[in-house]
Amino acid sequence: MSNTARKRALEALKGQRAATAGPLFAVMEEGEGFAHDTIDKVAVLFPLPLPEPFDYRAPSSWGLKPGAHVIAPIGSRLVRGVVWNVEVNNPGAANLKAIDQVLPGPLVPDMSRAFLDWAAKYLVRPPGDFLRMIVRSPDALLDPPTFNVVTPSGQPPPKLTEARARVMAEAAKEALSAAELARRADVSSAVVKGLIDCGALNRVEISEDPPFPEPDLGMKGKPLSGIQQAASDEVCAYVRKGGFHVTLLDGVTGSGKTEVYLEAVAETLALAPDAQVLVLIPEIALTQAAMARFEARFGVKPVEWHSNITQKARRRAWREVACGRARLVVGARSALFLPFPNLKLIVIDEEHDPSYKQEEGVIYQARDLAVARAKLGHCGIILASATPSLETLVNAQQGRYAHVKLPSRHGVAEMPDVELIDLKYDPPEKGRWLSPKLITAAGEALSRGEQSLFYMNRRGYAPLTLCKACGHRMKSPETESWLVEHKYSGRLVCHLTGFSIPKPKACPECGTPDSFVSIGPGVERIHEEVLELFPNARIEIFSSDTTPNGDAVRDLVGRMERSEIDILIGTQIVAKGHNFPNLTFVGVVDADAALNNSTDIRAGERTFQLISQVAGRAGRHERKGRALIQTYIPEEPVMQGLKSQDRDTFMNLVAREREQFGMPPYGRLAAIIVSAPDEKLANEAAKQMGEKAPHTEGLDLWGPAPAPLAVIRGMHRRRFLIRADRGIDVSAFLAAWASRVKLHSAVRVQIDVDPYSFL
Ligand code: ADP
Repeated sequence: MSNTARKRALEALKGQRAATAGPLFAVMEEGEGFAHDTIDKVAVLFPLPLPEPFDYRAPSSWGLKPGAHVIAPIGSRLVRGVVWNVEVNNPGAANLKAIDQVLPGPLVPDMSRAFLDWAAKYLVRPPGDFLRMIVRSPDALLDPPTFNVVTPSGQPPPKLTEARARVMAEAAKEALSAAELARRADVSSAVVKGLIDCGALNRVEISEDPPFPEPDLGMKGKPLSGIQQAASDEVCAYVRKGGFHVTLLDGVTGSGKTEVYLEAVAETLALAPDAQVLVLIPEIALTQAAMARFEARFGVKPVEWHSNITQKARRRAWREVACGRARLVVGARSALFLPFPNLKLIVIDEEHDPSYKQEEGVIYQARDLAVARAKLGHCGIILASATPSLETLVNAQQGRYAHVKLPSRHGVAEMPDVELIDLKYDPPEKGRWLSPKLITAAGEALSRGEQSLFYMNRRGYAPLTLCKACGHRMKSPETESWLVEHKYSGRLVCHLTGFSIPKPKACPECGTPDSFVSIGPGVERIHEEVLELFPNARIEIFSSDTTPNGDAVRDLVGRMERSEIDILIGTQIVAKGHNFPNLTFVGVVDADAALNNSTDIRAGERTFQLISQVAGRAGRHERKGRALIQTYIPEEPVMQGLKSQDRDTFMNLVAREREQFGMPPYGRLAAIIVSAPDEKLANEAAKQMGEKAPHTEGLDLWGPAPAPLAVIRGMHRRRFLIRADRGIDVSAFLAAWASRVKLHSAVRVQIDVDPYSFL
């Protein structure tokens, strides 16, 4: 396909051009054995929130297959969709509307379609919502665009002037466009043209999206310790056995879980030349470090997939995955929806991480969906973590998942010492946040030339801005959330909606100038305090505000790894997988913060996971690490569990509590959030829904109640919480319930199966 034809086709795919002015794409070759006069009934699913596929007719001679991309009419519009089902030679389809166009491009594999159907049913969402995630890059369907380069033909030019020699030398280094070659050789374009004309250079058309280089399976990983080798042997044995199997790779921070699962990846890729592997990692911040480790192991960068890659990279990755040529993909949760035709292993690194739960738009938990995807596709899945979720631990304890353990750090590295600081007895100075013990420990690390980390999971300077004259609190408009002061940008920011304003000079309520006081700390305030305490140290903040993109993260992480920073103050972004060799001290400024959220059933578990992970950044190499945790409630089991580093005792306690109340994983939860632009409508809709709820044995329904965040962006929110005994089909219950209710068109109903947020 020429680049012009490609452009035209793309416009049609994006709906910018009517596709009716004659076929844009060659219709499929006539399949053998198809009669010319028969028609097929073809069900097409569209990437739209429709309840099911729509039926169309198409000539049997097109030989349409499930998974093919087509354009078909919905009303007066032509829309791109995917064939979901074909009934060959069905005369009953004669009265249906006709499919307009067949598009080129790799078929959406059977497994991707089965996974989508399953996910839609389980999460009670229209299947088209998931299709949108599967067919995101319309231009990935077309042949990739090409460009011309010039390369030496091997035939020397008849007359070798100095200028010509420079061109030939540059051309030998790299295939470049004629213009770029002229620029590099510092000659006019006529010189390059002359060399083409005399046959010394050839013009070659190459693809903008060439296949990715194959991982080098001849390369070896690091020599493993005995314990790592045993873990690797076990995991690789599951890989060789094949079929669906889940393994929990449970090892303390720095034990070498990554080294072990890299062996499983290598084993899988070696099984078959077309086997594909997907590794999910929780945050974009981690991608570069992960990419580098994969590159060191397999000689090539894996295929990368997350929301920050360019449109071009997205198109290339999608196509190469769909064609089965991309063998190793590392990505964020959405990579699970890539159309792998031959996925053989999924790895979920840091499986406990909350960022696997997508909370906006289509709500899903990627870890749970990945297990379902592995089951459907009869493939293996490894869940790796130092602090596995209770759901995963219980599955391992009950024998549903294999449990492979790495109980100690690799090499000479030991686990850090963890101590609690009881703020009731060791408080900071008034108006300060760091207790004397924390300050002393950071000072000691500094004098030894080692690094410290202060952890405070709140962005900005202060979470609340209050007028001391009238008591007015600065609130986000139409949202029940305080504005957070960001001192370095001089703004007040709503962390929920992103709304921000410059900090006013006077109180908008009473008009008193300079009357604001900042209540509570955020990382910027801790930064201010640390700067005063250690004026000569190199101190930086690591939060999504200071590192807004991948480059900034790479830069900061690089400087931290090279010990160019003495003290880092970070939000939960620091808790993830980083490996800072010279970091020996971690100070947790406010361990109680997340526990104050009484609505979250996982608050204790989350606090334990986060703080263990943060503490686990200390002393990952030769020098032993130390972590100090500031708390007002040292007697709480979670604090005691952190101090003794006895995860299993703490998690058993959590498990008994959950079991007693039939909470996950001993029961199921689902939430329904009803929201409307005014309060009355929200109340009426919630009441109406409540009245229509089907009664089911073994299922409790709570609500409707105003959500803890009762108003967001002007939408008034009401919540239902559903708790069901295990074995009850919660999805079927929710679907039956939703089908009974017809609500005002301004009302939105959001279903959250297995909720992690209760706000
Ligand atoms: P985890 O994933 O369990 O946190 P990693 O795989 O990141 O642990 O290992 C922690 C550190 O120890 C890394 O720097 C890693 O390169 C190193 N390491 C682990 N195992 C080995 C090994 N067998 N040989 C050399 N270095 C290792």
